[in-house]
Amino acid sequence: MMTSPRSIQPPENGSLDLFSLSPEELRQKLTDMGMARYRADQILAWIYRRFVANFDEMTDLSRQDRQLMTERFRVELPRVQDVKRTGDGMTAKLLLQLRDGCAVEGVVMLHPKRRPTLCVSTQVGCAQGCLFCATGTMGLVRDMEASEILSQIWLLRRHLARDLGEERVPTLVFMGMGEPLDNEANLHKAIGVLNDASGFGLGSRKMTLSTVGSAAGIRRLADLNLQIQLAVSLHAATDALRRKMIPGQRTSRIEELIDAARDYHERTGREITFEYVLIDRVNDSEEEARRLATLMKGIRGKVNLIPLNPVDHNNMQPPAPLSLSRFRNALEQGGIKVTVRHSQGREISAACGQLAVNSSRPQDSAAGAFAGPSPRRCA
Ligand code: SAH
Ligand code: SF4
Repeated sequence: MMTSPRSIQPPENGSLDLFSLSPEELRQKLTDMGMARYRADQILAWIYRRFVANFDEMTDLSRQDRQLMTERFRVELPRVQDVKRTGDGMTAKLLLQLRDGCAVEGVVMLHPKRRPTLCVSTQVGCAQGCLFCATGTMGLVRDMEASEILSQIWLLRRHLARDLGEERVPTLVFMGMGEPLDNEANLHKAIGVLNDASGFGLGSRKMTLSTVGSAAGIRRLADLNLQIQLAVSLHAATDALRRKMIPGQRTSRIEELIDAARDYHERTGREITFEYVLIDRVNDSEEEARRLATLMKGIRGKVNLIPLNPVDHNNMQPPAPLSLSRFRNALEQGGIKVTVRHSQGREISAACGQLAVNSSRPQDSAAGAFAGPSPRRCA
């Protein structure tokens, strides 16, 4: 079901949220206020390197500057409503309540042999309504502001460092709730701060953006001249089947998407991943695999097969093991590189496509863990 997007109200006390400013904008604001420029860098280091959000704790600022900062600025963080962890401790899902009561989920994943990963949301709900995705059932409630995307990442990063003791710089995937390219302006702004050495300092090569696509949006992403990894969610080899699976309005035709992906590779040097959620007897036939191999001829990239993670709202099933291996073989025989994703966090509904926020779900209402309004009511 679809709801119309809305925007949120400005804060009451008129202070400025630091997450709404780029590092350079903060330097400018502080020098305009008569503070030394290097003070901005001290403040940025407290926030982004030491995860300190309270100006009073920034001990290398004078008392006067701390007071000035408290009067004029704030570091606005969503409220952490709930944290769920898998039994093996490798995955944590944070339920975050935004200022207007809307909630989103973000996921932290540890891996035994490589850097941790943050899985990040970009919208409350999603307009694309993919049949197999829990977020799709929410409709689009609203876009997240750039500052909300950033404060979510800040909390996930802090959880990683403080609660899980993992200090390494994580990789980040825009694979949480929402379609990133449907919230392009806020996404681009957030990426700027993530990539800024005085902000999160996360190299663009450490970020992956997953999209059902608009070809034009993929081209504009290439215009940023960064080396963000692109993952295109394809899921079908014909437009007719793809339209059924992704009923949203704004996706481009498969050929246009593949062209845009090819250009993206040429401009950024990054190999493209095509994601394909495999669903039993929906899109897992060998014929579909052969068509996909033909479409992808000459592309520098791979297909990442994602066996469906079960969701409550439909009866869809992951493919039988035999169908998965036949599908994979057909692609490989067509000369296509293939990987299979083993999603982390299923037991806490933190795996791909399982993120959705609804206060009527039992785990949210149990013990009053999520007392805030549901996304539909927050809108
Ligand atoms: N909106 C973007 C990013 C968020 S979804 C997109 O669709 O690409 C991130 C990934 O999870 C996508 O590849 C999506 O197809 C996949 N996904 C969604 N629902 C899923 C499910 N139930 N099981 C497995 N993967 C799913
Ligand atoms: Fe939106 Fe992606 Fe889920 Fe589709 S799979 S509904 S585009 S979040």
